[in-house]
Amino acid sequence: MVQGSTSMQQIGKVYLVGAGPGDPGLFTLKGKTLLECADVVVYDALVSPPILAMINAHAERIDAGKRRGRHSMVQEDITHLLIEKAQTNAIVVRLKGGDPFVFGRGGEEMEELLQAGISVEVVPGITSGVAAPAYAGIPLTHRSYSSSVTFVTGHESVGKYRPTVNWHAIAQGSETIVIYMGIHNMPYIVAQLLQAGLTSATPIALVRWGTRPDQAELIGSLGTIVQQIEESGFEAPAIAVIGSVVKLHETLSVCRPVIVGMR
Ligand code: SAH
Repeated sequence: MVQGSTSMQQIGKVYLVGAGPGDPGLFTLKGKTLLECADVVVYDALVSPPILAMINAHAERIDAGKRRGRHSMVQEDITHLLIEKAQTNAIVVRLKGGDPFVFGRGGEEMEELLQAGISVEVVPGITSGVAAPAYAGIPLTHRSYSSSVTFVTGHESVGKYRPTVNWHAIAQGSETIVIYMGIHNMPYIVAQLLQAGLTSATPIALVRWGTRPDQAELIGSLGTIVQQIEESGFEAPAIAVIGSVVKLHETLSVCRPVIVGMR
């Protein structure tokens, strides 16, 4: 696989692989092939068990799981680990939930690896912001309801590297809004969107563990959703979809996708 390398002096490569949202049937063939021949796999908490089961038995498996409040490895350590592993192994897979370049820090990791002189290749995955609404019967665009969609993080880390989200511009400029990591911040987000001119009747859907057997949905409006979250104890990880397309859930969710190979 690695040209010109010998067992004494290997030149490794890191593959930033998107695992998709959970259903193993949505994982790419390229990603699966890499898991079958990887020397090392460093994976995140949101990667589903059936996809981890595709990792070959000889590979070193490293859980870099990072979930809110339970940081098992900090980002800097993960990058150092990838650099170290790529110096002694041919195929290092960095496996991330959804798509690595969509709120997955894949861009930052790739920059740092390249700076360290390591070859990197990205293998896209299906992002949860597309797949979770789809499995809940919500198309993000529709000729009668929406001709624009915005993907936004609801978990803003205010700092010099990232500007804060301009909720006013998003509310005014996009007919469908898809929010990642927004559940804990929903009271603030809803208040911002109402202030920006959206009405309290605007439909919203929350989809938790989208495309997995335990997928759960909460459907409401901007006026009701905060109370619904409190009353139902609805938790992350979930995608929020806001806009008229959510109305389609009622008719389109009658046909449920079959989740392939999920036990
Ligand atoms: N790179 C990932 C996103 C990572 S950010 C992607 O492309 O999907 C983590 C957030 O993604 C979670 O807080 C949640 O909002 C969302 N998420 C990831 N997997 C999900 C799933 N199966 N169902 C619903 N939301 C999910």
